Amino acid sequence: MSRRVIVCGAGIVGAATAYHLARRGAEVVLVDRRGIAAAASGRAAGFLALDWCDGLATGPMARASFAMHAELGRELGVDIGYRRVRTSLVALERRGEQGAATGWVDGDARIRGQLGDERTTAQVDPRRLTRALVTAAERHGATMRLGIVEDVVVDAGIATGVRVDGETLAADAVVVAMGPWSAQAAPGLGLPPMLAVKGHSVLLSPREAMPAEALFVDDDHGGEAPEVLPRPDGTVYIAAGSQVTRTPDPPESVGFEPAAIDALRAVAGRLSTGLRGVDWLDPGACYRPLCADNVPAVGAVPGARGAHVATGHGPWGILLGPATGAALAERILDGASTTVDLGPFDPARLLRR
Ligand SMILES: Cc1cc2nc3c(=O)[nH]c(=O)nc-3n(C[C@H](O)[C@H](O)[C@H](O)COP(=O)(O)OP(=O)(O)OC[C@H]3O[C@@H](n4cnc5c(N)ncnc54)[C@H](O)[C@@H]3O)c2cc1C
Repeated sequence: MSRRVIVCGAGIVGAATAYHLARRGAEVVLVDRRGIAAAASGRAAGFLALDWCDGLATGPMARASFAMHAELGRELGVDIGYRRVRTSLVALERRGEQGAATGWVDGDARIRGQLGDERTTAQVDPRRLTRALVTAAERHGATMRLGIVEDVVVDAGIATGVRVDGETLAADAVVVAMGPWSAQAAPGLGLPPMLAVKGHSVLLSPREAMPAEALFVDDDHGGEAPEVLPRPDGTVYIAAGSQVTRTPDPPESVGFEPAAIDALRAVAGRLSTGLRGVDWLDPGACYRPLCADNVPAVGAVPGARGAHVATGHGPWGILLGPATGAALAERILDGASTTVDLGPFDPARLLRR
């Protein structure tokens, strides 16, 4: 069994992996250049779906992770903003036309159909969840360290540590979970470059609480449909975006376009009169990490014994994070995973290309 494991990246994937490793007795050091949930894992919607990945490689992992999310608040002893939601598809009418008002969707929009209900869709606050996982990992002895990962040290085909800010930290196993920066921040592993999909988001503060209902907006928005998600804390999250890039900005300089935030606020106001002209906070953008074939890479890196990668979860990293962390911890500590079969996610497929 590997005893000392360095986990690079404190997003949802690194945090969940660190938590499962630490609770199983591994000595874990979690390293991030900006802190916990500083990138997409702090800015995502936190929408969860039981069966939206069915038929894809991620289907079984999504189902396993959806079930894990329901237990995590209790398990971690923290309010992670989890609740079940109903989910609707909404269409915006042409300007000036009034849609048939349905509850809070009372602007120039109408409900076009149900995409899910309380059995199949849910939400979590991703920043709270990621922080709670790290806190729980620390309770099991893990250490969080701020620092820039410069590379994984590979000696004669064996990963022996991680270079952080010029210092080499020795390890029996290494996990690279640095989102879209995973390949470039660990060049010694020879991982192929990743893709990243940029998305803008903002939180609105309506005067009255909105219901537990997620909305996906079927709109000619020039890309992915905006998603709107009222949170239990009274804020309403809205995001959209689909700019694909090969090299994301460095984590600390991910910028946002004010016009994209204005567009999101305008969509929100068209959906619901309760979201018009309200206060807003935390405007920004983040990147969904993607592998070239759209399937996450989770498992051992060929040619570097002891090195593992866990990234490429695209639009579903919050949903898939808990099962990814549990399965990878099993893979590292037991040699095989039981939570889900990691076969479809074998990083070797990317290196063969
Ligand atoms: C707008 C938007 C909405 C989304 N909504 C949802 C949703 O509703 N449901 C869902 O399931 N998913 C959603 N996602 C996707 C989800 O956010 C991501 O898949 C997930 O957060 C990726 O997590 P990660 O841990 O792999 O990477 P990240 O969260 O990107 O974390 C990577 C970490 O690595 C660190 N790092 C990078 N380089 C270095 C280095 N050299 N040294 C040290 N640390 C480094 C970064 O600082 C960062 O903290 C959304 C994404 C976006 C952009």
